[in-house]
Amino acid sequence: MAHIYDYAIIGSGLTGLSIAAALSRETKNIALIEAADFPFGVNKQIKFPTGPMNNGLRFVPDSVLAEKAMAFIENLVGQTVIKDVTEMAPVTYDSGNFKTFLGFGDNPPAFYEELQYFTSSKRIELAMQPYEWTQKLFEQFKGDFMPRSYVTKFHNEGSKVSHITINGSKTLHAENFIFAGSVKDLAVLLPEDAISIRARTRLSKNTYWTALCLDLCHAKPVTESTAMHVLNGTTQDEIGPCAGMFGPVVETEEGTLQSSQWLTFIEHEATEDSEVVGMALKKIKRQIKRAYPEALDGLKLERIFVAPLIAGNGELKVSGNQTLPELNNLWIASATMNEQRNVLGSLLQAEMILASLGFKVTESETTSEQYEEESESEVEASM
Ligand SMILES: Cc1cc2nc3c(=O)[nH]c(=O)nc-3n(C[C@H](O)[C@H](O)[C@H](O)COP(=O)(O)OP(=O)(O)OC[C@H]3O[C@@H](n4cnc5c(N)ncnc54)[C@H](O)[C@@H]3O)c2cc1C
Repeated sequence: MAHIYDYAIIGSGLTGLSIAAALSRETKNIALIEAADFPFGVNKQIKFPTGPMNNGLRFVPDSVLAEKAMAFIENLVGQTVIKDVTEMAPVTYDSGNFKTFLGFGDNPPAFYEELQYFTSSKRIELAMQPYEWTQKLFEQFKGDFMPRSYVTKFHNEGSKVSHITINGSKTLHAENFIFAGSVKDLAVLLPEDAISIRARTRLSKNTYWTALCLDLCHAKPVTESTAMHVLNGTTQDEIGPCAGMFGPVVETEEGTLQSSQWLTFIEHEATEDSEVVGMALKKIKRQIKRAYPEALDGLKLERIFVAPLIAGNGELKVSGNQTLPELNNLWIASATMNEQRNVLGSLLQAEMILASLGFKVTESETTSEQYEEESESEVEASM
């Protein structure tokens, strides 16, 4: 007789790990299934000459929901995550001067909504970084971690997922399945009769965004400014603007160094064209050089990171409790299902799913009863 897990969680990024750590308070009978060799997803630690840092630019705009998300992660990791809430307007470089960034005007980039997240003046300064959250969450996980295990298919019996296939051959059974990977992949993973052909096509054909990140270690201090920089240049082109920030100046054995982290978005389909990726990277560098002419001289390190499918505007209909209407034990935890973006989306989606599973992590969370009320009208999640 096959072992049956209470929960099978697919994906061990911030979203999957948050759920895994919380569920571990109640049971060890959890499978945490991860395609990669290691847990943490995109929120893993990067070693840099200036010290450990996040895997690409991280920024948390302040809002009531952001503070709710931070309370959730603070409770999970048992540590203070927020250092401070500060106000600092983003800056841009225009006509030879730095100016307050006032918006994209009449020519917003196609990925305007993704980039707008980074332009909030009010921001949360973190006492503990996202790569530290995931490490702590993984320490708290008590079930079976299965790396190098790619879930290739969900199988159902009626309105329940009965088991999944891993790496095309292995079978794993569970009472509940929590999917914390990319929503786009559900077009392939879901059983034939779980969603309509139209919904499946919509899932795979919508516009998804890939983040293109450039992490730099400058040979000399560049600026004391800790403002978010939104750089575009004078010409409007298809590539659009980038956002980035400088880290603190650090004394190291290699000298006085400073890091900076930048990102832009490109349409996922375009990532297959290495020329587009190359052009976008060149554009980021050109804009940095324009604003800080010596910043790229003698770079100590340059790191490029392409994060596929981190955002998109596809749609998948889920019930109010975040299960698929046709499969009531498959919970869609993907961060992009949440109206909030990025790490906030991860945390709030995880909190919502835990609540609907009956797990209370913070005092202020919405109860599962409230979700059930909402479920009467299906929620169309924006991704
Ligand atoms: C470059 C970059 C910059 C960002 N900047 C910010 C920022 O400034 N502020 C902010 O708040 N957020 C930011 N984010 C976003 C934020 O970190 C993510 O949206 C979110 O937290 C990612 O967590 P996740 O668990 O949803 O996904 P991921 O970290 O992508 O984890 C998903 C995991 O699931 C695994 N997986 C997927 N499919 C399968 C499968 N079929 N079988 C088995 N395993 C599978 C993957 O291997 C992966 O490990 C940024 C993200 C990136 C990449």
